[in-house]
Amino acid sequence: MPQRTKGMGSDMENVAIYAGSFDPITYGHIDIIERGLAIFDKVIVAIANNMEKRSLFTVEERLQMIRDIFKETPNVVVDSFKGLLVNYVAKTNAKVILRGLRATSDFEYEFHMASMNRSLDTHLDTLFMMTSKDYFFVSSRTIKEVASLGGAVDGLVPDLVVRRLKEKFKLPVPKRKQIGWDD
Ligand code: ADP
Repeated sequence: MPQRTKGMGSDMENVAIYAGSFDPITYGHIDIIERGLAIFDKVIVAIANNMEKRSLFTVEERLQMIRDIFKETPNVVVDSFKGLLVNYVAKTNAKVILRGLRATSDFEYEFHMASMNRSLDTHLDTLFMMTSKDYFFVSSRTIKEVASLGGAVDGLVPDLVVRRLKEKFKLPVPKRKQIGWDD
């Protein structure tokens, strides 16, 4: 079982870790984070730095985008980690892993992961939140597919992400919006 050390968050705080690829972050993710904030004092958004998974955005770019989106929300901490999630969680004072469920197809994988994580660290629980009706069909993968073909993903990801996607796929970005990360 991983040794728990003092890290991000005090013992008194009720902290959850929301881990994922966030390549890129969508309003589906943001909805889960915001609903998590209604339950937890702090949500740590942890970007999995998984070399095996080919990503569109670098970890640095994803960190920057998510930090920018939550710049006015001090109880959202954005970080990245390598290796086992349970080892990362042990470095924080989080007791709960937060996950979102979109469809029954998510369930089997999530069920296995939650069971495996609990077997690796028996103190650790996973809390699942059902997706909101507006975002059940939104995944980072479909966002990338649609955006790469020039389709509009406005309303499904923040404007900042729309711009970064256009830049990545070398699609026209309105001039005044080309500078900086701010909306
Ligand atoms: P994706 O599956 O979109 O590539 P991640 O790997 O970053 O996303 O997923 C991180 C967590 O967010 C997972 O628990 C995933 O099920 C959840 N999630 C992703 N998109 C949504 C959504 N639209 N609604 C609810 N939860 C979501």
